[in-house]
Amino acid sequence: MLNIGVLLGDDIGLEVVPEAVKVMKAAAAKTGLQIVWSEHAIGKRGHELHGHTFPLQTQAELEKTDGWLCGPIGHNAYPRNDPTWIMPPVRKRFELYANIKPVKSYPNIPSVHKNVDIVFLREVTEGLQSSDTVVAGAGEFRPNDAISIGTRVVTRRGANRVARAAFEIARSRPRKTVTALHKEPVYRLVCGMFAEECRKVAKEFPDVHFNEVLIDGFMMKAVMNPRQYDVVVTTNQFGDIVTDLGAGLVGGLGLAPGLVCGDHQAMAQATHGSAPDIAGKNMANPYALIMSGQMLLEWLGRKRGDTKAVEAAMWIERAMERVIAEQRQLTADLGGTASTTQMGDAVVSAL
Ligand code: ATP
Repeated sequence: MLNIGVLLGDDIGLEVVPEAVKVMKAAAAKTGLQIVWSEHAIGKRGHELHGHTFPLQTQAELEKTDGWLCGPIGHNAYPRNDPTWIMPPVRKRFELYANIKPVKSYPNIPSVHKNVDIVFLREVTEGLQSSDTVVAGAGEFRPNDAISIGTRVVTRRGANRVARAAFEIARSRPRKTVTALHKEPVYRLVCGMFAEECRKVAKEFPDVHFNEVLIDGFMMKAVMNPRQYDVVVTTNQFGDIVTDLGAGLVGGLGLAPGLVCGDHQAMAQATHGSAPDIAGKNMANPYALIMSGQMLLEWLGRKRGDTKAVEAAMWIERAMERVIAEQRQLTADLGGTASTTQMGDAVVSAL
């Protein structure tokens, strides 16, 4: 049995998160997996109820779950001058250190490249965004008006655990290759420590190939020939940038799911934001949230040795592949005419 929290978020979150829940419920029913669901407020609703976009009350409730689906929080959810920075403190509190972002092309979806299948791992508790507080810009200083300073933190523990997560994923994939991205020749200490820990972990995984690429060179190589990459691991800010590049390689934000995981809990969270421009029109693509939910089930299933959860995840993946291949119920961003709900329904019937 799994306890899964549901955080709808704002704007299109109110439309795509329910589609993910619907699909996960159908998959769970198919395999006999029991899921206890609970809904908690974030975003505008969190602000209205508790004065915060990611209320402490919600965080306390999430402690009791195995993981949760997190919808996007809109910029209109809180006052413009509110300096609250939502995600970094939440990731720290739950020690969700690895953001896993798969990037996969489909034959019939327009994309820059075909046959791309990369899993990015971005460290998300350290780096340039390593503030311990909830205030945006912590870790940055302006000693006087002529100079601004930003700090970047890499610890052996932080680098080692995200590297380990990357090798574990690579081990389960056919190409079994991890590429670490850094810029050690310039950032000798911070990138140096990250690279050293990756090399150490590589020795423990002799069945996985390991290589290192400088971050700037990677950007060019990934644009020209992304097929050469399998699992790619990097530090926080480099990861922030390369994962958007990855989404762009295969068809954009609607196709970019993600899971932010620690050792015990995980948060399913798509790369896209709350997309206020298309909210309320039932036209947002639910793929990213559905597939983030699929990743949550697979991750929890493997962690807890729950074969029903792993199977449910496998069925969702297959059902989504079928809906995409058939091209009948796709949303407008994928070249179709279906609504958000129709695409979710199509995945359920494919299940
Ligand atoms: P944020 O800063 O919160 O990430 P944003 O407005 O910069 O928000 P998104 O909300 O992700 O970024 O939207 C960027 C563009 O992508 C918008 O035009 C939006 O309509 C489109 N978009 C985002 N998500 C989806 C989706 N699931 N389906 C279709 N289009 C989407």
